[in-house]
Amino acid sequence: MAKKEFKSESKRLLDLMINSIYTNKDIFLRELISNSSDALDKLYYRSLTDKKVKVDREKLEINIAFDKDKRLLTVTDNGCGMTKDELESNLGTIAKSGSLAFKENMSSDEKTNIIGQFGVGFYASFMVSDKVTVTSKSVDDDKAYVWESEGVDGYTIKEGKKEDTGTEIVLHIKEDSDEFEYSKYLDEYELKKLIKKYSDYISFPIKMEVTHHELKDEEKHEYEDHKEIETINSMIPIWKKSKDDVSEEDYDNFYMDKFSDYDKPLKVISSSVEGMTSYKALLFIPSHAPFDYYTQEYEKGLALYSNGVLIMEKCADLLPDFFSFVKGVVDSEDLSLNISRELLQESQNLKLIAKNIENKIKKELENMLREDRDTYISFFKTFGVQLKYGVYNNFGQDKDKLKDLVMFYSAKHEKLITISEYVSEMKEDQDSIYYASGSSIEKIASLPQVEQVRDKDYDILYLTDYVDEFCITAIQSYEDKKFKNVSDENLDLETEEEKKETEKANKENKDLLTEMNDLLEEVTEVRFSNKLKSHPVCLTTKGDVSIEMQKVFDAMPNDMGIKAQTILEINEKHPIAKKIQTLYKKDKEEFKKYTKILYSEARMIAGLPIDNPTEISQLICEVISK
Ligand code: ADP
Repeated sequence: MAKKEFKSESKRLLDLMINSIYTNKDIFLRELISNSSDALDKLYYRSLTDKKVKVDREKLEINIAFDKDKRLLTVTDNGCGMTKDELESNLGTIAKSGSLAFKENMSSDEKTNIIGQFGVGFYASFMVSDKVTVTSKSVDDDKAYVWESEGVDGYTIKEGKKEDTGTEIVLHIKEDSDEFEYSKYLDEYELKKLIKKYSDYISFPIKMEVTHHELKDEEKHEYEDHKEIETINSMIPIWKKSKDDVSEEDYDNFYMDKFSDYDKPLKVISSSVEGMTSYKALLFIPSHAPFDYYTQEYEKGLALYSNGVLIMEKCADLLPDFFSFVKGVVDSEDLSLNISRELLQESQNLKLIAKNIENKIKKELENMLREDRDTYISFFKTFGVQLKYGVYNNFGQDKDKLKDLVMFYSAKHEKLITISEYVSEMKEDQDSIYYASGSSIEKIASLPQVEQVRDKDYDILYLTDYVDEFCITAIQSYEDKKFKNVSDENLDLETEEEKKETEKANKENKDLLTEMNDLLEEVTEVRFSNKLKSHPVCLTTKGDVSIEMQKVFDAMPNDMGIKAQTILEINEKHPIAKKIQTLYKKDKEEFKKYTKILYSEARMIAGLPIDNPTEISQLICEVISK
């Protein structure tokens, strides 16, 4: 029979999996058991919503069997099974995304990372076996099909025989090598240990034939082996166990298995609520963002159970968008099993649970920030953008919930601080919360406008994320202190005397400034100022749109034409001020050149592109070669 090829990316992933020394081979078993459990859940849920499908939940189970001599390990379930098409699409490709960044000569960390991103899944079987045979019969088909593969070369699918609905997976376990003893996966004791360790919570029985040594004759000390099929797992979902009976490792293993992560969670949140609506929730904050987290493909949601029976894999209504990174399960006896998804959305119980969960997550994050700052910062570096996005999303309706969870880089402390921390350290004469934005901390720190504020010993929040300024604009003020961009035209930090001086300079040079402004159509105004200490020029803005915000708008696919109103400010005390005054009187041509150069300088400092770089560079050369 002709072999079919794996899709090229699946092939590479499979190749990585087989050949890289993925640290923990043991997990292949939990992956298979977890798939079986999902298939049983699916079949049961189907029976609740489709009268044609009759299922006795008591009979749903997973079986593990092994044959030492033939080196076969078999995992069987009587779940929903797979049709021929499903075998093809589920096992022939690694589903979900197509954009895998494969590189030549990847380090083993990078390999692990790539494998991890995809959740090792079914393919993990190839870490321990040289041949995998899947025989499956779907609830929606009378025929059974056999999928078989010996690894990267490809796979075959043919019709097969199978009595009952469900799936049987037979692994031909690799021969032992110097590096690894694969035979352990054919050992009763080892298998039992693995099932207990990784799959204990699975809510269906995982059965295996177990040997008992029984004393036959006490006097002669004679024993007899006697075999019996036993359920290995406790079947108690981990969230139903008392916290004292569950170790940190158990929670971590559950998380990694259930949510296909190769890393432990950063934080485990468990909560049990009794009341009008009772439920148990086990929530996790991942330690890194899922590979598709910041894409459209990412689906938020918590697994929803009704008394141990899965109703929905990802119930989106249980999580607000700003906490979309949270993974976990919610189990409530107060939700009806047969409820349709549409009705579920309307359910008051569900709404109440969602509200409680939101509060719980918020509280836990606040605690973490207070008591375990390093962990919080690690969390914030991973998911902070989502929180900041949450602040301004929906017209800022959630900003009050989130404003104490967001952090920004402090110029003074050179690390992340909260707004509340900033405010508590404000100087007596300081009435605004200053911020400055740019593409990096270094670039912001060298902005001319920063100097004046830092000279007063006021701290400045340096904003480097594109969402930051939108977030701050949405918050508006904190404890009556308004936020102020250091690039705002009106910082109001000068003394009365300084103000008068500038006013005078601007009046006396009105014609000059107007002519400059006429030459520079884009800018709203050109003025002398004394806010600059050592720098000759800067660009400030008027109104709500800052330069950094304009950059974000400019980068959007459909240009909305939102522009910042810019002001070119010239340092009145800088020698250049005198120079242009002289040129204005004596040499208009030269005056025009200087105007263009100065404006380009200001744009450059603000990180804005220069439309006519060739012209400007020629002008500069003309001027400096004089
Ligand atoms: P994942 O479980 O993360 O989706 P896998 O590679 O483990 O990825 O499995 C791919 C798909 O194959 C599953 O989503 C499921 O649809 C199907 N599948 C795997 N094992 C079984 C099984 N025992 N019964 C029914 N379907 C299965």
